[in-house]
Amino acid sequence: MVKHSSRIFLSQSALKQNYRFIREKIGPHPVISSVVKANAFGHGIGVFVPMAEKCGIRHFSVASSYEAWKVKEVITHDDSRIMIMGILYPEDLTWVIENEIEFFVFDFVQLENALKVAQEVGKPAVVHLEVETGGNRTGLPPEMLEKAIRFLKTHKKFLRFEGMCTHFAGIESLANQFRIQRQLKAFQEMYKRVKKLKHLPRLRHTACSAAALAFPDTVMDMVRIGTVQFGLWPSPDIYNMHLLQTGKVQDSPLKRILTWKTDVMHVKKVKKDDFVGYGTSFQATRDMTVAVIPIGYSNGYPKALSNRGHVLIHGKKATVTGLINMNVFMVDVSHIPDVEVGDDVVLIGKQNNNTITIKSFTQITDAINNELVSRLPTAIPRRTVR
Ligand SMILES: *Cc1c(COP(=O)(O)O)cnc(C)c1O
Repeated sequence: MVKHSSRIFLSQSALKQNYRFIREKIGPHPVISSVVKANAFGHGIGVFVPMAEKCGIRHFSVASSYEAWKVKEVITHDDSRIMIMGILYPEDLTWVIENEIEFFVFDFVQLENALKVAQEVGKPAVVHLEVETGGNRTGLPPEMLEKAIRFLKTHKKFLRFEGMCTHFAGIESLANQFRIQRQLKAFQEMYKRVKKLKHLPRLRHTACSAAALAFPDTVMDMVRIGTVQFGLWPSPDIYNMHLLQTGKVQDSPLKRILTWKTDVMHVKKVKKDDFVGYGTSFQATRDMTVAVIPIGYSNGYPKALSNRGHVLIHGKKATVTGLINMNVFMVDVSHIPDVEVGDDVVLIGKQNNNTITIKSFTQITDAINNELVSRLPTAIPRRTVR
């Protein structure tokens, strides 16, 4: 194997701590479904899923049948379940049902298709009815509820009513509370209607990370946890609510599990008044030393960090000088003695007593944390560390 230009490390102990914190918030009973869509938010399904299984997780949620297939390939426990929350093409239904993969249904025609295929396969389809509560993304329209439940009841041999669920429209922001409360109420009312038909789902679930941490009413039989398991706060609002709830002024119960590293590719003396890199965006105001880093925007390092981002070398911050190119960028190391080719460079993470946080990226780029990590290319090798 030849060497890739950067490496990602995932901390098993940080992950364990994050699940412990989630468990503290939700109590002992709800199932934790680990949401690993978008290549486990860029952390890498292949490495992340077995790490989560090691922490006792036995339920995984994805956004498509393609991702379900990726998870299925790397699962190490026979009893680990997979649930598709998003796109499921009719031509994939046979594979999905044969492999007992659970899936969201939000349209009556999907129930009919699932029944047909389940009968052909000779195994029940395991369905979660996603109901519309006001998010207006996917969701079964309320007026279709009775029809869907009767259909599920009539065909219960081939349609297992595993879950009833909804997803909140922006619960990580307190500004959206009026909408969230309405959605929760709508869900509860729909559940009452289901009860009347005497055909109940095995699990109710509505909570994502922010809901599970800050809104106990949304925590039911299962929670679908993405962001928080990776040690990222869903938003400043949710962090502040945690502080209010615990009466603390500062707390760090979540540990970022990801570290992203590369190494110095080249070191160069630059004379006062010379430009660095493409164009004229950076001109040296003094004689300086720059290090060339073999990473660019094609590797998921945001172009918006041109002339503003930082990396760590020898435990010290080095500022990006010039533009982020497709696969290299330069940093100013004038203040760091003896930088040599091959020295460790931390793009995200800790080195000695310094840290580059994901937030320090996103405060500049205006992206949300999830946007940055979920774009880390699948080609970067990932490895578990303690
Ligand atoms: C992405 C997603 C989640 C997880 O959201 P987080 O806020 O990252 O925990 C839960 N449910 C659905 C339907 C999702 O699409």
